[in-house]
Amino acid sequence: MRAYLDANATTPLDPRVRAAMEPWLDCGNASSLHAEGRAARAAIDAAREQVAALLGARPREILFTSGATEANALALLGAARANGVRHAACSAIEHPSVLRALEALRPEVGLSLLAVDREGRLGPDAPLPAGASLVSVMLANNETGAVQPVAGIASRSRAAGALVHTDAVQACGKMRVSVAELGVDLLSLSAHKMHGPKGAGALYVRGGVRIAPLSRGGEHERGLRPGTENVAAIAGFGAAAEIAARETEPRRALWAALRARFLARLRDEIPLARVLSPPDGLPNTLSLALPGIPGDAMLAALDLAGISVSTGSACASGAAEPSHVLLAMGLPRELAAQCIRVSFHAGSTERDVDACLNEIGGCVKRLGAVRI
Ligand code: PMP
Repeated sequence: MRAYLDANATTPLDPRVRAAMEPWLDCGNASSLHAEGRAARAAIDAAREQVAALLGARPREILFTSGATEANALALLGAARANGVRHAACSAIEHPSVLRALEALRPEVGLSLLAVDREGRLGPDAPLPAGASLVSVMLANNETGAVQPVAGIASRSRAAGALVHTDAVQACGKMRVSVAELGVDLLSLSAHKMHGPKGAGALYVRGGVRIAPLSRGGEHERGLRPGTENVAAIAGFGAAAEIAARETEPRRALWAALRARFLARLRDEIPLARVLSPPDGLPNTLSLALPGIPGDAMLAALDLAGISVSTGSACASGAAEPSHVLLAMGLPRELAAQCIRVSFHAGSTERDVDACLNEIGGCVKRLGAVRI
């Protein structure tokens, strides 16, 4: 059996989510007024309540999208256009769907990148660029699991009159996420990172915040995201959100134990490995540098042995460039190319951890670059 340790790329579909989707794979158009249409609409409404409940939001504040890439674009381009934003700021370690969306607004909208420290974190008191009226800081980083001080940044930014967005894709289902506690205006999430289906996401838009739609069409999602809804994916997202609301805490306990086991063996058996993930980040995420061993060679060796990890973000892998996140943390380029990311999901086991460590150890010996 393979050990799938790449949950931050995507998680396995929870069988309960699959069951919740099944009735809606062939259903009416939720805009139709007949019985089939009304049933589909009711399924979407129920999912909206489930996703809102996970965040402590009102159902009206949730817009369904095709995923977080679209939610991030809708948040940033939509807020910039509707509010006449001239200057935006985001952290240097954002997902490409945030970075590229903000870059697309140039040159009309200026962009400042906020630096992170060696642990990949923004300081809670880091100065915010004067004049930025749109600020986007992710809640948890996909590559390192570093959790950012979003609540503090949001209160300072909002006090200065800025709109605040957070990409909470990696945080949802892995830590408590409350829009009231965070104090943000816009928040993106994605179903497939929390044991839901791919192709479903959501944008939380705080009541009263204006955004412009990216495309024009019907009145779906209050006209802000026109297009016939993917009812099965949305129903699955709702089920995944409801499960996450109940099971995030037990999952965190499982991950903390798996992480402790992983790190204890790593310290004993591969002492030169460097752990890049901060200790108080997401408990499911471990980013490791293995000096002397190219990350892609380690990934391929592990894959051959039935273990799935990644070399950074899946979106960036395949590209020759080392991860912008690791570079922003000050890692030299060479070391940034010698990193792997291990990320646990709700079904990860000690057996997976042991298989991974055994193989990393074997691989390090074979490649001989690191003394063990
Ligand atoms: N933001 C972050 C932090 C992510 O990890 C991802 C997925 N790699 C996305 C956004 C994009 O999500 P989706 O796959 O739903 O488009």
